[in-house]
Amino acid sequence: MIKSIVKAIIYILLYPFKLTATFFINIFKRFKFSIAFKISTSYFFIYIVIMLIVALITSAGYLIFEFEKFENDTIADDISEIESAFPDLSNIDYKIEENRISSIEIYDNNLNAVYPPNSQKRYSDNIITILEKLFYNREYIYSSSFIYNYSTYYVNVSYNAINLINDAERIIFLVMISGAIGLFLFVPIVSGTSYKLIGPIKNMTEITKTITVNNINTRLDIKGTQDELKELSQTFNEMMDRIEEGYKTQQQFVSDASHELRTPIAVIKGYVNMLDRWGKNDKAVLEESISAIKNETESMQDLIEKLLFIARSDKSTLTYTKEDFKISLILNEIEKETKMIDSKHKLYFKFYEDANIYGDIKRIKQAIRILIDNAMKFTPQDGYIMVSSFIQDDYYVIKIEDTGIGIEKKDLEKIFERLYRAEQSRSKEIGGHGLGLSIAKIIVLGHKGKIKVKSTLGKGSEFSILLPYL
Ligand code: ADP
Repeated sequence: MIKSIVKAIIYILLYPFKLTATFFINIFKRFKFSIAFKISTSYFFIYIVIMLIVALITSAGYLIFEFEKFENDTIADDISEIESAFPDLSNIDYKIEENRISSIEIYDNNLNAVYPPNSQKRYSDNIITILEKLFYNREYIYSSSFIYNYSTYYVNVSYNAINLINDAERIIFLVMISGAIGLFLFVPIVSGTSYKLIGPIKNMTEITKTITVNNINTRLDIKGTQDELKELSQTFNEMMDRIEEGYKTQQQFVSDASHELRTPIAVIKGYVNMLDRWGKNDKAVLEESISAIKNETESMQDLIEKLLFIARSDKSTLTYTKEDFKISLILNEIEKETKMIDSKHKLYFKFYEDANIYGDIKRIKQAIRILIDNAMKFTPQDGYIMVSSFIQDDYYVIKIEDTGIGIEKKDLEKIFERLYRAEQSRSKEIGGHGLGLSIAKIIVLGHKGKIKVKSTLGKGSEFSILLPYL
């Protein structure tokens, strides 16, 4: 009960302080102090604290030194005089009159005052009392003991310490004055240095504010900045390099895709105009137009579907419906379908091993199909196409080899890029938009697999899909 009342009283008493502290903290939070200001203020406070410590240590050191000297000379003499004059001390009273000693007390073995006979004072030799007397009464109490007539006596001699304390105070004052003079030099140097240090950040903020897609090639100036800031600027510039590269690739992709769409639209428009002007009544022209328009729309639909697939992959909205399945399931289907649609090439299928794969059946089949379609597209009539599969280390490998036109070395790195087609395959008859391999790669990587290619121009190519198996 009492405990909680005390608690409540303390709470009520402290409440105004708490309120004031919260008020100031909130006000400071609202102010937007610059880093330079904060650094300068921190240094300012550190400086003040150091100055106070120096002043205190200097004056305390002075007091200790002076008292030691005083004890060794004057006090030692006085004590021996007191000891030899005991118990009749009337002959040393002149020292009290001299105003050096303010009082002398002597206590017996039981710490009862024996001199002056009716003294009410108590013997003291502890540091707290000594310090209290020193700062409140400006007196220095010296304590000692001596033996007289086989009994121990304790002595307290109080010395007037006004002059010493005044000197110590003067020292504090002088140190503070020199500190304050130093502060006049210190403040401009610290604030100048802080602003100089922080200057590049301001510059960086200004430049960063101006960067938009129209001047995406703007970079921060890394000359002359401090080390950590230089690193920050460099990192920022590197990030901008990556963003710019991505942005340019995206721009290029949009422009290439529009270009791809322009051709079929132009063809369709051409046929429609022809029909509009005079072709309606010519059966041959009509049939040719319908067939061309059909081809072009199919090609456009195919292109748009592929573009959508890639866009979904970029936006990370592409999802896979993964499940455990036997890879032979897909491979057998593909074998059947390929044999049905391709009678121009010599086809070989050899699936050495079967394995369980965890993945999206439809997508994996789509990726294998892309590679087989390419083999069919880029291999002349009667050429060989061989699809084989086997286990190699941690992967199930599906290999598609052909004896087709092959790929030049300089094109090998680029064929997986979007809308890229090697020079020799850009003929109208072969067709394609250069998106198949990009899609196959997205699917394979989406299954933590790998896609590899080896090719010799004029001899043939070998594509492999490697999928982790269970
Ligand atoms: P496309 O729709 O043009 O086939 P892909 O992305 O599938 O697009 O292929 C990109 C390019 O890679 C092709 O245009 C072709 O130049 C080359 N390529 C792909 N597969 C083969 C292959 N089996 N033989 C020769 N060249 C190939």
